[in-house]
Amino acid sequence: MRFCSKTFRVFEPERLEGVKWKQGCFAQDAVGSWWLCLPIEVRIEETVAPLEKVGSDLGLKEVAVTSDGARCERNRFYRGIEHKIAQAQRRGHLRQAKYLHRRAANRRKDALHKFSRQVVSQYQKIVVGDVSSTQLVKTRMAKSVLDAGWGILKTYLQYKGQQAGRIVQTVSERNTSCTCSSCDSLTGPRGVNGLHVRHWTCAACGVSHDREVNAARNILRRAELPASVCGNESSSLRVPPSRASRSRKAGIEPVRTVA
Ligand SMILES: [Zn+2]
Repeated sequence: MRFCSKTFRVFEPERLEGVKWKQGCFAQDAVGSWWLCLPIEVRIEETVAPLEKVGSDLGLKEVAVTSDGARCERNRFYRGIEHKIAQAQRRGHLRQAKYLHRRAANRRKDALHKFSRQVVSQYQKIVVGDVSSTQLVKTRMAKSVLDAGWGILKTYLQYKGQQAGRIVQTVSERNTSCTCSSCDSLTGPRGVNGLHVRHWTCAACGVSHDREVNAARNILRRAELPASVCGNESSSLRVPPSRASRSRKAGIEPVRTVA
């Protein structure tokens, strides 16, 4: 390939076959490899997903868990790589350490691409919590938060969903972990101390929950409430004050009927 009267050797030239491109750029990554970046045009086919809707809880142990129980595990990305990185850094092999970091990052992107592709191809409406990593990064869980790649996953879901003609919605995920998705009681694990609780049983209705699946179900249900519920107080005036304040805290419509 010729550029500025210089010749460049392109690896994997078959990727450029039959592809129309006009302009692009060269970019170098942390390892020092050069990449040729070319925007290309692709045709998008909008399809109808076989299933109606899904909620997705973004977490630390797993990157994401859906209301139907599908999981995107986190620890896979660095499996078998972490101690090699430590070893390389101890020996001063910084370039090798960078290579390993890149491999882990690629694994993570690959897993997030596959998970988001799977969700988008299955569901017509996708709901995620508005989890803010900037708040959690200040805590001792910072490394986990940054590793989890929530931002990347949301971006993937959004653009893949848009391409496929899906609805991708963000809702407040406040109290989704500690609210029982069966009876709306705030009986679940709370706060930082409750983070280790994976399974719990609701003290009010006796239904046992998987922490993430329960949260994902709450996130999905939240998207089905009218928009006036969160933040707009006018709807809560119709119910007694004590119930109204509690329901506002939980972010759940008090007069909602459970299907
Ligand atoms: Zn319950």
